Amino acid sequence: MYLVSTPWWLRRFYPTLCWKMDTLEKHIYLTFDDGPHETVTPFVLDTLQQYNAKTTFFCIGNNVRKHKEIYSRILAEGHSVGNHTEHHMRGWKTRDYNYLKDISIAEQVIDSPLFRPPYGRIKRSQIKKLQDVESPMKIIMWSVLSGDFDTTISGENCLKNVLRHSKEGSIVVFHDSAKAWDRLQYALPKVLEHFSEKGFQFKALPYPVPLQGLGVV
Ligand SMILES: [Zn+2]
Repeated sequence: MYLVSTPWWLRRFYPTLCWKMDTLEKHIYLTFDDGPHETVTPFVLDTLQQYNAKTTFFCIGNNVRKHKEIYSRILAEGHSVGNHTEHHMRGWKTRDYNYLKDISIAEQVIDSPLFRPPYGRIKRSQIKKLQDVESPMKIIMWSVLSGDFDTTISGENCLKNVLRHSKEGSIVVFHDSAKAWDRLQYALPKVLEHFSEKGFQFKALPYPVPLQGLGVV
């Protein structure tokens, strides 16, 4: 079971996590989890290019190691990247030490202060350990789940999920994975077309400004 649109009470329950971007401008933040994948990611990049869309890829460290050239292409084309652990770890079922260790292994190949917990599941103690340090990670959740990972729904339904719930500042989850491929290849071009026609722009998540940059010590 999952909710397409993140309810307000869940956001309130985890206020230090980022659930959507605070903007009134017509900006939508698409994100792609679990790649890079040898065929799906190049399709995503080609499709994004047609709409001059910038987005964010939450990569699995182990997949970056396998597909270094695709990872380089993501960066070269102006997208943001984020850490999604080395082995797609389940936070709720993993001891903090092992969870943090897996993130730091992924960090060897993914240079980013952005982090998204696999399955959106992370313990409070893990959040604290990622945030209460000198260079904290910004934990990015989402406001809209496309459901592309759900093999019981059609591409049309996946598209409807995104069209119905996305608006200014939305963070939308897709997956550049084999599992999501059927729905993704149908929905992604139509999402880009629909919102472009309505005057929206697709933006990459910004990396947080380091504290020194703000004159704060
Ligand atoms: Zn994932």
